[in-house]
Amino acid sequence: MRDYINEYRDPALIGAIASQIARENKRLCESGERQINIMEICGGHTHTIMKYGISQLLPANIRFIHGPGCPVCVMPKERIDHAITLAEMPDTILATLGDMIRVPGSKKTLQEARSAGADIRALYTPLDLIKIARENPRKKVIFFAIGFETTTPMTAILLEKTIALGLKNLFFHINHILVPPPVRAIMLDGGEIDAFLGPSHVSVITGYQIFAPIATEFKTPITVSGFEPSDVLQGVLMILRQFNEGRREVENQYSRAVSAKGNEKAQELIAKYMLSRESFRWRGLGDIKKSALKLRENYAEFDAEVVFKEFLSYEPIDDHKLCLCAEILKGKKSPLDCKVFGKACAPRSPLGSCMVSGEGACAAYYKYGLK
Ligand code: SF4
Repeated sequence: MRDYINEYRDPALIGAIASQIARENKRLCESGERQINIMEICGGHTHTIMKYGISQLLPANIRFIHGPGCPVCVMPKERIDHAITLAEMPDTILATLGDMIRVPGSKKTLQEARSAGADIRALYTPLDLIKIARENPRKKVIFFAIGFETTTPMTAILLEKTIALGLKNLFFHINHILVPPPVRAIMLDGGEIDAFLGPSHVSVITGYQIFAPIATEFKTPITVSGFEPSDVLQGVLMILRQFNEGRREVENQYSRAVSAKGNEKAQELIAKYMLSRESFRWRGLGDIKKSALKLRENYAEFDAEVVFKEFLSYEPIDDHKLCLCAEILKGKKSPLDCKVFGKACAPRSPLGSCMVSGEGACAAYYKYGLK
């Protein structure tokens, strides 16, 4: 019986793909190409690369650049302050996903607000949110919803359940963001990127064709790849083959789960409840048009940004002056360029979001001993 995990970590398979990469790279170098910078968009890929030493299996001229695909890392401080402000309102329960609790806002973290008495809950399964709202009818329950296209359908389902059950005390602060707009912004910003490894979990929902306009506009190969080490290596191999064959297009390495069109039912559900914001501010990347979602006006009574708007400020807040997260998220710096990496900033005492999240580049470097 297939186990679907170890077969993608098989040393013989990994060695065979690494040899094919060496051959394709030799062809590429003979034709004049030299340095190949591949941005892995997703923090999940960054962790696979670090955990399995993928860079060490590649020729020296192929370099990974870490991208903006960590939803906790790219959330600007003013929105983290929103979560803290909402949590500190009387008779309120704020629920969110685990990593958010430790991200520093302008003055404190949600964890610190909780220590001071705010009722803040980390959700283990999303449906717990409904249970919390039903068990606390006299309290305002606010879901600080965060994530890329992967987690957005879950929020849409929660809203659908909220409406179906007639719950009037459950509100949604929507921080769902989209992958293609920041990738385009990085390229327009002059990012020295020759190719992308695309995120496979996002593509399960959106379909891999969502990246085709970027591949065409910037003549850049994009390979949507899985998260096992052989997936990442095969994604790199497919990129090199594109260069050698003179192609620049989107390809799908993760065909065992990703299709061209994605999960159309999930897309319909998202479109029913949400639409694009005109603009959204990203940590490091600034304001990017149509890069995030918000609730449709018909659902304003559930929208925490509408219901509690008098308490929320959108004034941009700068990062800690020593933190290079902003440059790391643009692919312009590495965690090792940060003077406080592993010293004043470590997972137990993070100064910036990239050290907090399970998908953050600084957290990956720290966890896998790159100091
Ligand atoms: S090590 Fe800490 S302070 Fe430095 S860039 Fe990473 S998160 Fe920011």
